[in-house]
Amino acid sequence: MHKPDNKGSVEGWQFRRCRCGFVIALSPRRKLYWLRAKTSIKEIRSKEELQAALAKPCRIYDRIARSAAAG
Ligand SMILES: [Zn+2]
Repeated sequence: MHKPDNKGSVEGWQFRRCRCGFVIALSPRRKLYWLRAKTSIKEIRSKEELQAALAKPCRIYDRIARSAAAG
């Protein structure tokens, strides 16, 4: 699961980035996009689609969460 905690903004766009590079972008017109490096950008049209995107395995955060649980 991704944790996009790092916030930034560029020219009216707002970005939230997970440590792994997963990025959700909010456009000036309040549309949400999932910026994917290897495939096309995906528009997120519902809360369910956002939850599905966030629930994808995260190669950084999941490892941190696992080691925190173990230690
Ligand atoms: Zn992530």
